[in-house]
Amino acid sequence: MAEKDVIIGLEVHVQLNKLNSKLFCGCSTDYHDSPPNTHTCPVCLGLPGTLPVVNKRAVEYAIRVALALNCAIQGETLFYRKNYYYPDLPKAFQITQYDFPLGLGGSILIKGEDGEERRIRITRVHMEEDPGRLVHAGTIDRAKYSMVDYNRCGMALLEVVTEPDLRSPKEARSFLDKLRNILEYLDVFDGNLEGAMRIDSNISLVGGERAEVKNISSHKGVEKALAYEITRQRSARRRGVAQVQETRHYDELRGITVTIRTKEEAHDYRYFPEPDLVPMRIADWVPRVEAKLPELPDAKRERFVAEYGIADDHAKSLTSEIRVANFYEVVAERAPPRLAAAWIADVLKGELNYRDVTIERFSPDQMVVILDLIEGGKITEKGAVEVIRTILDGPGETTEADPAAIVATKGLSRVEDDAVMAAVRAAVEESSQAVADYRAGNEKAINFIVGVVMKKTRGRADPGEANRLVREALEGAGRA
Ligand SMILES: [Zn+2]
Repeated sequence: MAEKDVIIGLEVHVQLNKLNSKLFCGCSTDYHDSPPNTHTCPVCLGLPGTLPVVNKRAVEYAIRVALALNCAIQGETLFYRKNYYYPDLPKAFQITQYDFPLGLGGSILIKGEDGEERRIRITRVHMEEDPGRLVHAGTIDRAKYSMVDYNRCGMALLEVVTEPDLRSPKEARSFLDKLRNILEYLDVFDGNLEGAMRIDSNISLVGGERAEVKNISSHKGVEKALAYEITRQRSARRRGVAQVQETRHYDELRGITVTIRTKEEAHDYRYFPEPDLVPMRIADWVPRVEAKLPELPDAKRERFVAEYGIADDHAKSLTSEIRVANFYEVVAERAPPRLAAAWIADVLKGELNYRDVTIERFSPDQMVVILDLIEGGKITEKGAVEVIRTILDGPGETTEADPAAIVATKGLSRVEDDAVMAAVRAAVEESSQAVADYRAGNEKAINFIVGVVMKKTRGRADPGEANRLVREALEGAGRA
Protein backbone atom coordinates (compact mmCIF):
# COMPACT_ATOMS: atom_id res chain seq x y z
CA MET A 1 0.00 0.00 0.00
CA ALA A 2 1.17 3.57 -0.58
CA GLU A 3 2.48 5.11 2.58
CA LYS A 4 2.75 8.86 2.94
CA ASP A 5 5.84 8.78 5.13
CA VAL A 6 7.89 6.51 2.86
CA ILE A 7 10.44 8.09 0.53
CA ILE A 8 12.09 5.98 -2.14
CA GLY A 9 14.48 6.90 -4.91
CA LEU A 10 16.20 4.55 -7.33
CA GLU A 11 19.51 4.42 -9.17
CA VAL A 12 19.24 1.91 -11.95
CA HIS A 13 22.28 0.57 -13.78
CA VAL A 14 21.27 -0.60 -17.22
CA GLN A 15 23.67 -2.58 -19.36
CA LEU A 16 23.41 -1.68 -23.04
CA ASN A 17 23.87 -5.36 -23.77
CA LYS A 18 22.60 -5.32 -27.34
CA LEU A 19 25.77 -3.60 -28.50
CA ASN A 20 28.37 -5.84 -30.09
CA SER A 21 31.36 -4.28 -28.39
CA LYS A 22 32.22 -2.61 -25.10
CA LEU A 23 32.16 1.14 -24.39
CA PHE A 24 35.82 1.95 -25.05
CA CYS A 25 37.27 -1.12 -26.75
CA GLY A 26 36.42 -3.76 -29.31
CA CYS A 27 35.90 -6.63 -26.86
CA SER A 28 32.78 -8.66 -27.51
CA THR A 29 29.84 -8.12 -25.17
CA ASP A 30 28.72 -11.72 -25.59
CA TYR A 31 30.48 -12.96 -22.47
CA HIS A 32 27.67 -14.47 -20.45
CA ASP A 33 28.45 -18.11 -21.16
CA SER A 34 32.21 -17.66 -21.38
CA PRO A 35 34.84 -18.65 -18.82
CA PRO A 36 35.97 -15.78 -16.56
CA ASN A 37 38.47 -13.25 -17.94
CA THR A 38 38.25 -14.38 -21.56
CA HIS A 39 36.61 -11.21 -22.93
CA THR A 40 39.26 -8.70 -21.98
CA CYS A 41 41.96 -6.63 -23.64
CA PRO A 42 44.59 -4.12 -22.49
CA VAL A 43 42.06 -1.27 -22.85
CA CYS A 44 39.27 -2.62 -20.67
CA LEU A 45 41.84 -3.93 -18.18
CA GLY A 46 43.32 -0.42 -18.12
CA LEU A 47 46.90 -1.49 -18.76
CA PRO A 48 49.41 1.37 -19.01
CA GLY A 49 49.73 3.02 -22.40
CA THR A 50 46.27 2.07 -23.66
CA LEU A 51 43.78 4.60 -24.96
CA PRO A 52 39.99 4.38 -24.84
CA VAL A 53 37.98 5.01 -28.02
CA VAL A 54 34.29 5.84 -27.61
CA ASN A 55 31.84 3.37 -29.11
CA LYS A 56 29.63 5.75 -31.09
CA ARG A 57 26.75 3.34 -31.24
CA ALA A 58 26.75 3.19 -27.43
CA VAL A 59 26.36 6.97 -27.32
CA GLU A 60 23.57 6.74 -29.87
CA TYR A 61 21.78 4.09 -27.78
CA ALA A 62 22.19 6.25 -24.69
CA ILE A 63 20.66 9.25 -26.46
CA ARG A 64 17.82 7.01 -27.61
CA VAL A 65 17.07 6.01 -24.01
CA ALA A 66 17.40 9.55 -22.66
CA LEU A 67 14.97 10.83 -25.30
CA ALA A 68 12.51 8.04 -24.58
CA LEU A 69 12.63 8.99 -20.89
CA ASN A 70 11.77 12.58 -21.84
CA CYS A 71 15.13 13.95 -20.77
CA ALA A 72 16.69 17.11 -22.11
CA ILE A 73 19.85 16.13 -23.96
CA GLN A 74 22.86 18.25 -23.12
CA GLY A 75 24.53 19.98 -26.04
CA GLU A 76 27.95 18.77 -25.06
CA THR A 77 28.97 15.93 -22.84
CA LEU A 78 32.19 14.97 -21.21
CA PHE A 79 33.66 11.94 -19.50
CA TYR A 80 35.35 12.11 -16.12
CA ARG A 81 37.57 9.82 -14.14
CA LYS A 82 36.08 8.73 -10.87
CA ASN A 83 39.04 7.60 -8.81
CA TYR A 84 38.72 4.84 -6.30
CA TYR A 85 40.35 1.55 -5.60
CA TYR A 86 38.30 -1.63 -5.70
CA PRO A 87 39.35 -5.09 -6.88
CA ASP A 88 36.79 -5.17 -9.72
CA LEU A 89 38.30 -2.00 -11.20
CA PRO A 90 41.85 -2.79 -12.32
CA LYS A 91 42.83 0.73 -13.38
CA ALA A 92 41.60 2.24 -10.09
CA PHE A 93 39.30 4.73 -11.77
CA GLN A 94 36.00 4.42 -13.58
CA ILE A 95 35.21 6.45 -16.68
CA THR A 96 31.82 8.02 -16.06
CA GLN A 97 29.91 11.26 -16.59
CA TYR A 98 29.85 13.79 -13.81
CA ASP A 99 29.04 17.44 -14.38
CA PHE A 100 27.71 16.99 -17.88
CA PRO A 101 25.52 13.91 -17.96
CA LEU A 102 23.93 13.02 -21.25
CA GLY A 103 20.32 13.60 -20.18
CA LEU A 104 18.68 15.71 -17.48
CA GLY A 105 15.20 16.01 -16.05
CA GLY A 106 13.03 13.29 -17.59
CA SER A 107 10.07 11.30 -16.35
CA ILE A 108 8.22 8.01 -16.60
CA LEU A 109 4.49 7.49 -16.12
CA ILE A 110 3.44 4.63 -13.87
CA LYS A 111 0.17 3.54 -12.40
CA GLY A 112 0.23 4.48 -8.72
CA GLU A 113 -1.19 2.31 -5.97
CA ASP A 114 -4.41 4.32 -6.00
CA GLY A 115 -4.85 3.46 -9.69
CA GLU A 116 -4.07 7.02 -10.72
CA GLU A 117 -1.33 7.74 -13.21
CA ARG A 118 1.81 9.09 -11.52
CA ARG A 119 4.73 10.88 -13.08
CA ILE A 120 8.03 9.75 -11.58
CA ARG A 121 10.73 12.32 -12.22
CA ILE A 122 14.12 11.30 -13.51
CA THR A 123 17.02 13.39 -12.29
CA ARG A 124 19.61 12.33 -14.81
CA VAL A 125 20.76 9.69 -17.24
CA HIS A 126 24.47 9.25 -17.66
CA MET A 127 26.89 6.86 -19.30
CA GLU A 128 29.66 4.98 -17.62
CA GLU A 129 31.71 1.83 -17.94
CA ASP A 130 30.79 -1.25 -15.98
CA PRO A 131 33.39 -2.59 -13.57
CA GLY A 132 34.19 -6.30 -13.38
CA ARG A 133 32.37 -8.71 -11.16
CA LEU A 134 33.33 -10.12 -7.79
CA VAL A 135 32.32 -13.71 -7.20
CA HIS A 136 32.04 -14.30 -3.48
CA ALA A 137 32.60 -17.67 -1.92
CA GLY A 138 29.32 -17.64 0.00
CA THR A 139 27.33 -14.56 1.00
CA ILE A 140 28.91 -11.13 0.71
CA ASP A 141 29.15 -10.50 4.46
CA ARG A 142 30.49 -13.95 5.31
CA ALA A 143 32.64 -14.96 2.33
CA LYS A 144 36.11 -16.27 3.16
CA TYR A 145 37.45 -15.11 -0.19
CA SER A 146 36.25 -13.60 -3.47
CA MET A 147 37.29 -14.01 -7.09
CA VAL A 148 37.29 -11.42 -9.85
CA ASP A 149 35.91 -11.79 -13.36
CA TYR A 150 36.82 -8.93 -15.68
CA ASN A 151 34.62 -10.03 -18.58
CA ARG A 152 32.06 -7.38 -17.61
CA CYS A 153 34.71 -4.68 -17.29
CA GLY A 154 34.05 -1.88 -19.78
CA MET A 155 30.51 -2.87 -20.76
CA ALA A 156 28.46 0.23 -21.60
CA LEU A 157 26.20 1.16 -18.71
CA LEU A 158 23.53 3.77 -18.36
CA GLU A 159 22.69 5.02 -14.94
CA VAL A 160 19.12 6.21 -14.57
CA VAL A 161 18.59 8.19 -11.36
CA THR A 162 15.11 9.07 -10.11
CA GLU A 163 13.94 11.79 -7.77
CA PRO A 164 12.69 10.41 -4.43
CA ASP A 165 9.17 10.26 -5.87
CA LEU A 166 8.25 6.67 -5.14
CA ARG A 167 6.02 5.94 -2.17
CA SER A 168 5.95 2.17 -1.82
CA PRO A 169 7.87 -0.98 -2.75
CA LYS A 170 5.18 -1.81 -5.26
CA GLU A 171 5.52 1.56 -6.97
CA ALA A 172 9.26 0.98 -7.18
CA ARG A 173 8.57 -2.31 -8.92
CA SER A 174 6.07 -0.70 -11.32
CA PHE A 175 8.70 1.88 -12.18
CA LEU A 176 11.30 -0.79 -12.90
CA ASP A 177 8.87 -2.84 -14.98
CA LYS A 178 7.98 0.22 -17.02
CA LEU A 179 11.63 1.16 -17.48
CA ARG A 180 12.47 -2.36 -18.66
CA ASN A 181 9.49 -2.26 -20.99
CA ILE A 182 10.71 1.00 -22.57
CA LEU A 183 14.30 -0.27 -22.88
CA GLU A 184 13.10 -3.38 -24.69
CA TYR A 185 10.97 -1.30 -27.04
CA LEU A 186 14.10 0.70 -27.86
CA ASP A 187 15.93 -2.53 -28.72
CA VAL A 188 19.00 -1.55 -26.71
CA PHE A 189 18.59 -4.03 -23.92
CA ASP A 190 17.88 -7.67 -23.18
CA GLY A 191 16.52 -7.89 -19.67
CA ASN A 192 16.89 -11.65 -19.52
CA LEU A 193 20.68 -11.59 -19.42
CA GLU A 194 22.40 -11.91 -16.06
CA GLY A 195 23.38 -8.51 -14.64
CA ALA A 196 21.37 -6.58 -17.25
CA MET A 197 19.82 -4.32 -14.63
CA ARG A 198 21.20 -3.66 -11.17
CA ILE A 199 19.42 -1.41 -8.78
CA ASP A 200 20.47 0.70 -5.82
CA SER A 201 17.54 1.99 -3.81
CA ASN A 202 17.43 4.77 -1.26
CA ILE A 203 14.78 4.52 1.36
CA SER A 204 13.85 6.57 4.39
CA LEU A 205 10.91 7.46 6.57
CA VAL A 206 10.03 11.15 6.73
CA GLY A 207 12.32 12.80 9.26
CA GLY A 208 14.82 9.93 9.32
CA GLU A 209 18.18 9.26 7.70
CA ARG A 210 18.19 7.11 4.62
CA ALA A 211 19.53 3.66 3.99
CA GLU A 212 20.91 2.77 0.60
CA VAL A 213 20.35 -0.85 -0.40
CA LYS A 214 22.93 -1.69 -3.04
CA ASN A 215 23.11 -3.86 -6.07
CA ILE A 216 19.85 -5.78 -6.29
CA SER A 217 19.43 -7.61 -9.56
CA SER A 218 15.70 -8.35 -9.78
CA HIS A 219 12.57 -6.23 -9.62
CA LYS A 220 11.04 -8.64 -7.17
CA GLY A 221 14.19 -8.40 -5.05
CA VAL A 222 13.87 -4.61 -4.92
CA GLU A 223 10.24 -4.85 -3.85
CA LYS A 224 11.08 -7.34 -1.10
CA ALA A 225 14.17 -5.48 0.11
CA LEU A 226 12.22 -2.22 0.36
CA ALA A 227 9.35 -3.89 2.20
CA TYR A 228 11.88 -5.36 4.64
CA GLU A 229 13.52 -1.95 5.10
CA ILE A 230 10.22 -0.20 5.84
CA THR A 231 9.43 -2.73 8.54
CA ARG A 232 12.96 -2.54 9.95
CA GLN A 233 13.09 1.25 10.01
CA ARG A 234 9.61 1.53 11.53
CA SER A 235 10.37 -0.93 14.26
CA ALA A 236 13.68 0.86 15.04
CA ARG A 237 11.79 4.12 15.30
CA ARG A 238 9.25 2.59 17.68
CA ARG A 239 12.08 1.42 19.88
CA GLY A 240 13.57 4.91 19.80
CA VAL A 241 16.60 3.89 17.75
CA ALA A 242 17.51 6.52 15.17
CA GLN A 243 18.17 5.36 11.59
CA VAL A 244 21.72 6.29 10.66
CA GLN A 245 22.79 6.96 7.12
CA GLU A 246 24.19 3.68 5.91
CA THR A 247 24.74 1.33 3.02
CA ARG A 248 23.06 -2.05 3.20
CA HIS A 249 23.13 -5.24 1.20
CA TYR A 250 20.03 -7.28 0.37
CA ASP A 251 20.57 -10.95 1.00
CA GLU A 252 18.16 -12.61 -1.39
CA LEU A 253 18.40 -16.04 0.24
CA ARG A 254 17.73 -14.83 3.76
CA GLY A 255 15.28 -12.15 2.60
CA ILE A 256 16.88 -9.50 4.80
CA THR A 257 19.13 -6.47 4.43
CA VAL A 258 22.41 -6.30 6.32
CA THR A 259 24.53 -3.27 7.03
CA ILE A 260 27.76 -2.98 5.06
CA ARG A 261 29.03 0.41 6.15
CA THR A 262 27.64 3.33 8.07
CA LYS A 263 28.08 7.06 7.56
CA GLU A 264 29.89 6.91 4.21
CA GLU A 265 33.39 8.19 4.74
CA ALA A 266 32.34 11.24 2.67
CA HIS A 267 33.87 9.87 -0.49
CA ASP A 268 36.25 12.08 -2.33
CA TYR A 269 36.44 10.46 -5.72
CA ARG A 270 38.68 13.20 -7.12
CA TYR A 271 36.68 13.51 -10.29
CA PHE A 272 38.57 15.09 -13.11
CA PRO A 273 37.96 15.22 -16.85
CA GLU A 274 39.19 12.08 -18.62
CA PRO A 275 42.23 13.47 -20.50
CA ASP A 276 42.18 10.68 -23.10
CA LEU A 277 38.67 11.50 -24.38
CA VAL A 278 37.62 14.78 -25.95
CA PRO A 279 34.25 16.41 -25.19
CA MET A 280 31.47 15.22 -27.50
CA ARG A 281 29.03 17.60 -29.18
CA ILE A 282 26.01 15.36 -29.10
CA ALA A 283 23.41 18.03 -29.85
CA ASP A 284 24.07 17.40 -33.54
CA TRP A 285 23.22 13.71 -33.17
CA VAL A 286 19.85 14.22 -31.55
CA PRO A 287 17.62 14.91 -34.60
CA ARG A 288 18.88 11.78 -36.35
CA VAL A 289 18.35 9.58 -33.28
CA GLU A 290 14.97 11.17 -32.62
CA ALA A 291 13.82 10.42 -36.17
CA LYS A 292 14.54 6.73 -35.63
CA LEU A 293 12.83 6.49 -32.25
CA PRO A 294 10.24 3.68 -32.31
CA GLU A 295 6.71 3.95 -31.00
CA LEU A 296 6.90 3.67 -27.20
CA PRO A 297 4.60 1.71 -24.84
CA ASP A 298 2.29 4.60 -23.84
CA ALA A 299 1.81 5.70 -27.44
CA LYS A 300 1.28 2.15 -28.63
CA ARG A 301 -1.32 1.57 -25.95
CA GLU A 302 -3.26 4.66 -27.00
CA ARG A 303 -3.06 3.64 -30.64
CA PHE A 304 -4.31 0.11 -29.88
CA VAL A 305 -7.37 1.55 -28.17
CA ALA A 306 -8.07 3.96 -31.02
CA GLU A 307 -7.19 1.67 -33.92
CA TYR A 308 -8.58 -1.66 -32.75
CA GLY A 309 -11.35 -0.42 -30.47
CA ILE A 310 -10.14 -2.58 -27.58
CA ALA A 311 -10.45 -1.92 -23.84
CA ASP A 312 -7.72 0.13 -22.19
CA ASP A 313 -6.69 -2.62 -19.79
CA HIS A 314 -6.37 -5.06 -22.67
CA ALA A 315 -4.25 -2.50 -24.52
CA LYS A 316 -2.11 -2.03 -21.43
CA SER A 317 -1.59 -5.74 -20.99
CA LEU A 318 -0.76 -6.26 -24.68
CA THR A 319 1.78 -3.43 -24.79
CA SER A 320 3.58 -4.29 -21.57
CA GLU A 321 5.96 -6.40 -23.65
CA ILE A 322 7.04 -5.46 -27.14
CA ARG A 323 6.95 -9.09 -28.30
CA VAL A 324 3.36 -9.53 -27.16
CA ALA A 325 2.37 -6.24 -28.80
CA ASN A 326 3.89 -7.36 -32.10
CA PHE A 327 2.23 -10.76 -31.78
CA TYR A 328 -1.13 -9.08 -31.23
CA GLU A 329 -0.80 -6.85 -34.27
CA VAL A 330 -0.04 -9.79 -36.55
CA VAL A 331 -3.08 -11.66 -35.23
CA ALA A 332 -5.40 -8.62 -35.29
CA GLU A 333 -4.75 -8.21 -39.00
CA ARG A 334 -6.32 -11.59 -39.68
CA ALA A 335 -8.86 -12.00 -36.86
CA PRO A 336 -11.44 -9.84 -35.08
CA PRO A 337 -9.26 -7.41 -33.04
CA ARG A 338 -11.39 -7.41 -29.89
CA LEU A 339 -11.70 -11.17 -29.76
CA ALA A 340 -7.95 -11.44 -30.35
CA ALA A 341 -7.21 -8.91 -27.59
CA ALA A 342 -9.34 -10.78 -25.05
CA TRP A 343 -7.84 -14.18 -25.86
CA ILE A 344 -4.24 -13.01 -25.92
CA ALA A 345 -4.40 -10.70 -22.89
CA ASP A 346 -6.72 -12.74 -20.67
CA VAL A 347 -5.96 -16.33 -21.62
CA LEU A 348 -2.72 -16.81 -23.55
CA LYS A 349 -0.65 -14.47 -21.36
CA GLY A 350 -1.92 -16.21 -18.24
CA GLU A 351 -0.99 -19.63 -19.60
CA LEU A 352 2.47 -18.34 -20.61
CA ASN A 353 3.07 -16.80 -17.18
CA TYR A 354 1.92 -19.95 -15.46
CA ARG A 355 4.55 -21.94 -17.39
CA ASP A 356 7.12 -19.15 -17.19
CA VAL A 357 7.64 -19.19 -20.96
CA THR A 358 7.67 -16.37 -23.53
CA ILE A 359 5.29 -15.74 -26.40
CA GLU A 360 7.78 -17.29 -28.81
CA ARG A 361 6.33 -20.62 -27.71
CA PHE A 362 3.16 -19.79 -29.60
CA SER A 363 2.67 -18.61 -33.15
CA PRO A 364 0.29 -15.96 -34.51
CA ASP A 365 -0.90 -18.55 -37.03
CA GLN A 366 -2.04 -20.87 -34.25
CA MET A 367 -3.89 -18.02 -32.56
CA VAL A 368 -5.61 -17.04 -35.80
CA VAL A 369 -6.82 -20.62 -36.34
CA ILE A 370 -8.11 -20.88 -32.77
CA LEU A 371 -9.96 -17.55 -33.01
CA ASP A 372 -11.44 -18.68 -36.29
CA LEU A 373 -12.73 -21.87 -34.67
CA ILE A 374 -14.25 -19.87 -31.80
CA GLU A 375 -15.79 -17.34 -34.15
CA GLY A 376 -17.29 -20.03 -36.35
CA GLY A 377 -18.81 -21.72 -33.31
CA LYS A 378 -16.74 -24.83 -34.00
CA ILE A 379 -15.25 -25.08 -30.52
CA THR A 380 -16.39 -23.96 -27.11
CA GLU A 381 -14.34 -21.48 -25.05
CA LYS A 382 -13.39 -24.33 -22.77
CA GLY A 383 -12.23 -26.29 -25.81
CA ALA A 384 -10.16 -23.33 -27.01
CA VAL A 385 -8.40 -23.06 -23.65
CA GLU A 386 -7.69 -26.77 -23.84
CA VAL A 387 -6.11 -26.33 -27.29
CA ILE A 388 -3.88 -23.51 -26.02
CA ARG A 389 -2.77 -25.61 -23.05
CA THR A 390 -2.11 -28.65 -25.24
CA ILE A 391 0.11 -26.60 -27.55
CA LEU A 392 2.08 -25.08 -24.68
CA ASP A 393 2.53 -28.41 -22.93
CA GLY A 394 3.60 -30.14 -26.12
CA PRO A 395 7.16 -31.28 -26.73
CA GLY A 396 9.71 -29.54 -28.96
CA GLU A 397 8.67 -26.90 -31.42
CA THR A 398 5.21 -26.20 -30.07
CA THR A 399 4.75 -23.40 -32.58
CA GLU A 400 4.38 -26.09 -35.25
CA ALA A 401 1.46 -27.87 -33.57
CA ASP A 402 -1.77 -27.63 -35.52
CA PRO A 403 -4.75 -26.45 -33.45
CA ALA A 404 -7.26 -28.06 -35.83
CA ALA A 405 -5.51 -31.42 -35.43
CA ILE A 406 -5.61 -31.06 -31.64
CA VAL A 407 -9.33 -30.34 -31.82
CA ALA A 408 -9.81 -33.52 -33.85
CA THR A 409 -7.66 -35.87 -31.74
CA LYS A 410 -8.96 -34.56 -28.44
CA GLY A 411 -12.54 -34.43 -29.62
CA LEU A 412 -12.96 -30.80 -28.70
CA SER A 413 -15.26 -29.64 -31.45
CA ARG A 414 -18.85 -28.70 -30.78
CA VAL A 415 -19.82 -31.36 -33.29
CA GLU A 416 -18.04 -33.85 -31.06
CA ASP A 417 -20.00 -32.49 -28.10
CA ASP A 418 -23.18 -33.25 -30.03
CA ALA A 419 -21.89 -36.73 -30.86
CA VAL A 420 -21.25 -37.40 -27.18
CA MET A 421 -24.76 -36.19 -26.30
CA ALA A 422 -26.25 -38.46 -28.96
CA ALA A 423 -24.25 -41.41 -27.61
CA VAL A 424 -25.50 -40.66 -24.09
CA ARG A 425 -29.12 -40.62 -25.23
CA ALA A 426 -28.70 -43.84 -27.18
CA ALA A 427 -26.86 -45.55 -24.31
CA VAL A 428 -29.61 -44.66 -21.83
CA GLU A 429 -32.25 -45.93 -24.24
CA GLU A 430 -30.45 -49.20 -24.88
CA SER A 431 -29.58 -49.98 -21.27
CA SER A 432 -33.02 -50.35 -19.74
CA GLN A 433 -31.85 -52.93 -17.18
CA ALA A 434 -28.99 -50.70 -15.95
CA VAL A 435 -31.31 -47.69 -15.84
CA ALA A 436 -33.80 -49.65 -13.74
CA ASP A 437 -31.00 -50.86 -11.40
CA TYR A 438 -29.74 -47.28 -10.99
CA ARG A 439 -33.21 -46.03 -10.17
CA ALA A 440 -33.54 -48.85 -7.67
CA GLY A 441 -30.55 -47.40 -5.86
CA ASN A 442 -27.64 -49.29 -7.42
CA GLU A 443 -25.16 -46.44 -7.97
CA LYS A 444 -22.71 -48.72 -9.76
CA ALA A 445 -25.15 -49.41 -12.58
CA ILE A 446 -24.23 -46.01 -14.00
CA ASN A 447 -20.77 -47.33 -14.87
CA PHE A 448 -22.33 -49.75 -17.32
CA ILE A 449 -24.10 -46.93 -19.15
CA VAL A 450 -20.94 -44.79 -19.22
CA GLY A 451 -19.14 -47.82 -20.67
CA VAL A 452 -21.66 -47.94 -23.51
CA VAL A 453 -21.10 -44.21 -24.16
CA MET A 454 -17.33 -44.73 -24.28
CA LYS A 455 -17.78 -47.61 -26.72
CA LYS A 456 -20.09 -45.60 -28.97
CA THR A 457 -17.72 -42.61 -29.07
CA ARG A 458 -14.72 -44.91 -29.52
CA GLY A 459 -13.17 -43.53 -26.36
CA ARG A 460 -13.27 -39.87 -27.42
CA ALA A 461 -15.62 -38.77 -24.69
CA ASP A 462 -14.11 -37.73 -21.39
CA PRO A 463 -15.23 -40.43 -18.86
CA GLY A 464 -15.94 -37.90 -16.12
CA GLU A 465 -17.89 -35.73 -18.51
CA ALA A 466 -19.80 -38.78 -19.84
CA ASN A 467 -20.66 -39.77 -16.27
CA ARG A 468 -22.04 -36.29 -15.61
CA LEU A 469 -24.07 -36.28 -18.84
CA VAL A 470 -25.51 -39.73 -18.16
CA ARG A 471 -26.65 -38.64 -14.68
CA GLU A 472 -28.22 -35.52 -16.19
CA ALA A 473 -29.99 -37.61 -18.80
CA LEU A 474 -31.32 -40.02 -16.16
CA GLU A 475 -32.60 -37.21 -13.96
CA GLY A 476 -34.16 -35.52 -16.97
CA ALA A 477 -35.83 -38.80 -17.96
CA GLY A 478 -36.98 -39.38 -14.38
CA ARG A 479 -38.68 -36.01 -14.23
CA ALA A 480 -40.32 -36.44 -17.61
ZN1 LIG B 1 38.46 -4.78 -24.05
